[in-house]
Amino acid sequence: MEVELKCAAEKCVFNLKEYCTAPEIQVNGEDTMGGRFTYCDTFSEGDKDGEVSLRQLDKNTNYHYFIADPEVACSAHNCIYNEGEECHAPHVKILGAIATVPIQTECQTFFPREGQTSSDEQNDSTYSVQDY
Ligand code: SF4
Ligand code: SF4
Repeated sequence: MEVELKCAAEKCVFNLKEYCTAPEIQVNGEDTMGGRFTYCDTFSEGDKDGEVSLRQLDKNTNYHYFIADPEVACSAHNCIYNEGEECHAPHVKILGAIATVPIQTECQTFFPREGQTSSDEQNDSTYSVQDY
């Protein structure tokens, strides 16, 4: 399922004006009960293995024709939007304006399933899709 996604991790090679140009991404979070420990594992700071940066399209026109919403696989199974390790949120926002490695990013849209908050993390991800 493609997810409408905005991403602030502008140092990621796939980031083009806050859109993600990767066809699919992997968000990780495993057992976390707050968004702080989620991250986009697809984050990459530079070209490698033939990955082509679309940043050069970030000039004036037409870049939006190349952008599709990515498929979002996610291991953060305590998030209410996680169904079978796929994200089903209507919108996803990834944070990480100064991120240079994947773990410095964060899924802001993470929202814990009822009864799944912890005292350490409960205030980290109180966002809803309205914050997108
Ligand atoms: S950090 Fe993840 S969501 Fe953001 S542009 Fe890179 S691959 Fe896409
Ligand atoms: S909203 Fe939830 S399921 Fe979707 S990517 Fe973020 S943490 Fe994973």
